[in-house]
Amino acid sequence: MTEETRITSTSEAEECPPGEAALCIMGRSLPDPCPYPATVPLPHRLGGDDLRLCAYHAATEPLVDESEELNVSLELVRAYLKGARRHGAAGPLVTILERAEADFSEREAVVDKVLADLKAAEYALMRG
Ligand SMILES: [Zn+2]
Repeated sequence: MTEETRITSTSEAEECPPGEAALCIMGRSLPDPCPYPATVPLPHRLGGDDLRLCAYHAATEPLVDESEELNVSLELVRAYLKGARRHGAAGPLVTILERAEADFSEREAVVDKVLADLKAAEYALMRG
């Protein structure tokens, strides 16, 4: 890919001429995009150097990822629990799975509480 095709293939090139501060990429294609300046590069696994987040989204996105991962883990543990409870000989396994379910639930609740508090604080400070 040539430099020219790379630039023309992104809408950001049109929206943000060189020299102007780019905005956070969160919600960029939505009617209500994030209004904050993009100051933090995306983690390497997610995109190129030209994609950046604001400080708020750089702080909250790892928590959003963790919450989603915990949610998937909880669904799996609950499905295994459902199967294990059908077998009388699986008592020790049920005990372990119930402990895992309780741990994941507790962690998910903490992550979701921190995220909700950050969102409320951001709203009160910047948009309220
Ligand atoms: Zn943002």
